[in-house]
Amino acid sequence: MLDLHNHTTRCKHATGTMSEYVDTALSQGVSVYGFACHAPMDYDTGFRMSFDELQDYFHDIETLQERYSGRCTIRKGLEVDYLPKHLDSRVLDADVDYLIGSVHFLDDWGFDNPQFISEYMRQDMSQCWQRYLHAIRDMAKSGLFQIVGHFDLLKIFNNPPDDSVHEAITQTLESIKSAGMALEINSAGLRKPIGEIYPSKQILRKAFALGIPITFGSDAHAVQQVGFGRESAQRLAKEVGYTKMLDFHNRSPIVCRIP
Ligand SMILES: [Zn+2]
Ligand SMILES: [Zn+2]
Repeated sequence: MLDLHNHTTRCKHATGTMSEYVDTALSQGVSVYGFACHAPMDYDTGFRMSFDELQDYFHDIETLQERYSGRCTIRKGLEVDYLPKHLDSRVLDADVDYLIGSVHFLDDWGFDNPQFISEYMRQDMSQCWQRYLHAIRDMAKSGLFQIVGHFDLLKIFNNPPDDSVHEAITQTLESIKSAGMALEINSAGLRKPIGEIYPSKQILRKAFALGIPITFGSDAHAVQQVGFGRESAQRLAKEVGYTKMLDFHNRSPIVCRIP
């Protein structure tokens, strides 16, 4: 099994050592494990590593790649916020196996952060979904990323998309297909108020029909979150019809069979 989306303490809101994460994944039968911590950015600096730390982060991963050689393939990734004004070549051109592109902000509202949950009271969710999906489409068209992070994250605090958003979801999936990106099946939603994997089964069905490839991620921010919900994620993918998943090395996809 593979798990390409995991954080480290460098993002300032995760716990546990990197080797504890890998040991836990190994004990669960994971043979390809990827770190994709929040990339540095000149915005929201309290929730990510600094630019000064980027090479140290890569070095830590390379050290683990040697230490676990022959037991576990460790991938080097970053989770990048798609905020056009804050994209940085030090991240975009970095020597990584993959970049996960994620939208966590609508304008300057960090909508997945419980600290700013009161903002939901002032928002029209149908409009928020339109803005969110527009950002994901722009991200896909940018061609900068290999993986779409948690496709329907905006549902996190129990705000799933209503029927008015379905057309925009289809358009967004078509953009992802055209960009040749993979959708991540991210189990973190199971531990959030929505209590559901990202993306929903309904969305994943559309993605499968369009021939969009998938990959898997725990989005772990603590050792005990490594592998949380992985079996549900695999089951969901298979129920929808997927038999293959993608690993990435040097930004190129490697097709693997879902175990
Ligand atoms: Zn994220
Ligand atoms: Zn993440």
